Parts: sequence; C-alpha cells; structure tokens
Amino acid sequence: MADSATRSGITILGSTGSIGVNTLDVIAQHPDRYRVAALTANSSVDKLAEQCARFRPDYAVMVDAAAAERLAARLRQQAPDTEVLCGIDGLVSVAGLDGVDHVMAAIVGAAGLLPTLEAANRGKRVLLANKESLVMSGELFMNAVRGHGATLLPIDSEHNAILQCLPDAYIAGRTPAGVRRILLTASGGPFRTLPPAQLAAVTPEQACAHPNWVMGRKISVEIDSATLMNKGLEVIEASWLFGLTRERIEVVLHPQSVVHSLVEYVDGSVLAQLGNPDMRIPISHALGWPERIESGADSLDLMAVRSLQFEPADSGRYPCLALAYEALRAGGTAPAVLNAANEVAVQAFLERRIPFTSITGVIEQTLAGVTSGKAAALEDILAVDTLARTHAAELIASDRVTLAR
Ligand code: NAD
Ligand code: MG
Repeated sequence: MADSATRSGITILGSTGSIGVNTLDVIAQHPDRYRVAALTANSSVDKLAEQCARFRPDYAVMVDAAAAERLAARLRQQAPDTEVLCGIDGLVSVAGLDGVDHVMAAIVGAAGLLPTLEAANRGKRVLLANKESLVMSGELFMNAVRGHGATLLPIDSEHNAILQCLPDAYIAGRTPAGVRRILLTASGGPFRTLPPAQLAAVTPEQACAHPNWVMGRKISVEIDSATLMNKGLEVIEASWLFGLTRERIEVVLHPQSVVHSLVEYVDGSVLAQLGNPDMRIPISHALGWPERIESGADSLDLMAVRSLQFEPADSGRYPCLALAYEALRAGGTAPAVLNAANEVAVQAFLERRIPFTSITGVIEQTLAGVTSGKAAALEDILAVDTLARTHAAELIASDRVTLAR
C-alpha cells in the first residue's frame, strides 16, 4: 500500500446513507488511492461506529449532540484516534479540512447545503449527490465553485451520464459547445402504469417500491421518484451544472433504467451512457476522474435486457415535473420554495397525514403563497426555505390543500 501522503484524503458527508455506504464500498476496493479523513451522520451511532472502526478516519461527525457523546464513548475502544465532533459546525469543518481533496456530498435534503457550499468555497473536488444544494442555491453554489477553483463532479446517475457524454475538457457550469439538448431518463416510478384514479389511495410502502434502483435509498428519495419530483429537481440541477435553459432539458421515461441519460449534438449525433443501475458506477467515475477505476459493478448483460423502451413523461400523471419546470422558469428563490414544500409534503405523506395526490397541491400552493425573490445571498435562501416550510406545514394542518389535479 502506498504511503498515506500519496493517497487522496476524502470526507464523506452522510456516510451512513445509501450513497455514503456505496462510496465506502468503492473506496475499500482502492486502499492505495484513497484515505478516509472524515465520516459524518445525523444520528445513527451503530453504523457510524462500525464505519469508523473499519476506515479509521481522523474525524467523525454526529449532528445530534447526544448521539455524538454515545459515539465518542464507543470509539474510545474501537477507533481511539478518531476525534468526534458534533453539530452543523462539525459538518462544515470537516468539509473544509486541509489535506482533504475529495468531498462526497451525500447528505439528504436541505441539511446538506452548508457543508457542501463550504467544500466548494475551499476549492475541493466536490462529488455532488446532494442535488438540493444546486436546486436551492444554484447561482451561489456555481459562483463558489468558479470563484474558488473547486471541481464539481455530479454523482446523480443522470448528470454523471451526461458528463460522461461530454468532451473530457468540459468544465461544470459552462454551456457545452455543439450541444442541442440533453435528455434525462426517468424510470417513471412504481405508478407509471397505475390508472390515475387509483393514485389517491396509494400507501407510502407502495410509493417506496422503486422498480430498478433497489439500494435502500432514503425513503423520501423513493417518493420523489414516484411523483417524478426527483426528476424535476434533476432538471433544475442540470440547468446549473450544464449551463442550459429549461427548453434544452427534456425528460424521457425509460422503464429499464439502463440508459442513464443522453446528449444530442447539433449534427444529430446522440451519445448515451449505459450500465446496470448501480450507484457505484457514477461514484467511481467521479472518484477516479479523469481516470477510470473499478467500481465492483457487474457487466451490463444486453442479452438479458433485450429491449430498451422510451415513453414521454406525461405531465397529467406527473404534475410535480411541471411545477419544477415552472420554478426553474421563475428563477430566484422559487426552486428553494419548491424543494422546501416538497420535503414537507413528502414527510406528511409518509406520516399518512395527506394522500399521495395532495403532494402536488401543497407544493403548488406554497409556490403561489410564498413570494420569491433574488437568490443571491445565503441568508435569503435560508429565510425563504424556512418561510416555505412554515407555509406548507400550515396548509397541511389547516386541511386547505387542493386534492389531485
Ligand atoms: P440516505 O437517506 O440514505 O442518507 C442520508 C445521509 O445523510 C445519512 O448518512 C444521514 O445520516 C445523513 N443525514 C440525514 N439527515 C441529516 C441532517 N439533518 N443533517 C446531517 N446529516 C443528515 O440518502 P441517500 O439516498 O444516500 O441520498 C443522499 C443524497 O444523494 C440525496 O440528496 C439524494 O437526492 C442524492 N441521490 C441519491 C441517490 C441514491 O441512489 N440513493 C441517487 C442520486 C442522488
Ligand atoms: Mg438521479
């Protein structure tokens, strides 16, 4: 094994989640290339303690203070050289550590914004899974990347696929030369073929049964796949990552999840990236970039896949997608409002306080009720995030949500 000084230091924000676990799986295959500098979690002590015992990071951050104390007690035996930090300050400090080159931003939701922004401000290679950072604060985030010489590499499989279909010299945020449009693929979620009249009665368990990506993802990510809001957030993410207006970003349903996205050039050539639905593929692409490294994923068996289907994303079935395009058109803080209202609505659906079909209503009414403005400063974005959450929660509590459209 190479000396630790020659290995790249990596911080994994959200190491106990689905993306975090897959990242550690890839890193474990390359002990000569990577050194884990810091791991973080919200409150899962057992899982983070296990990861620390195995990967021996310099720091472990637990957001919850009581959980951090329990973790510290555990690590005194299991990983005595790992220092335990807590709170959002702890997250921000490990995102900007000297000696860390790579930061995997894999915290779910708006909670990931501050540490991910810190990684960009410190000029790190940011491996971006936390799409909410770009949705909420695209302008601010891209300015931080440009202003501090950070390298931004998307982990979201669609955006990573698009990056793979662009020239090697492509730099995030620039409109790629010669590109007519990009096509983001979406599986269509578990309700793609369900008669619309039955949507109001679907349960959280049914909504979480993703047809292809079976990797224990965060439950709300699953719901976002069922409503296609995940794709809506990805359209906004793509517009910032690739410097494209919404007219040049199309969503196409592709139930097999084998083609991860496509780029159409002005000469009519269409490039696509294919592979098994395994997040270790985009993770290892971004970790190794510009080199290719092993991911542990199986070879794609085209004879088993046999056929690839594509269908239009019907906005009647997926009204959340139309709301995301609308928020992107409105610009400013509207995407932050969309994201906050969606998080609140999804949580209410998971707790069975609203039906599946009311998720759209909560988001639509919050977008209408919260005035959006410029998203130039972090304070403005955080303020509108709070406002939108309160508005959405009040709508749900007062039962004023418009039902299915
Ligand atoms: P997850 O729920 O499995 O894991 C989330 C991680 O964030 C955990 O480590 C958790 O401890 C931590 N966390 C949760 N709440 C937190 C808080 N308030 N403060 C600090 N840490 C907190 O989520 P995931 O599926 O790994 O997704 C992570 C991100 O990657 C999301 O933004 C998601 O949209 C994106 N993403 C995920 C996938 C996937 O296949 N799972 C694919 C593409 C993009
Ligand atoms: Mg995706």
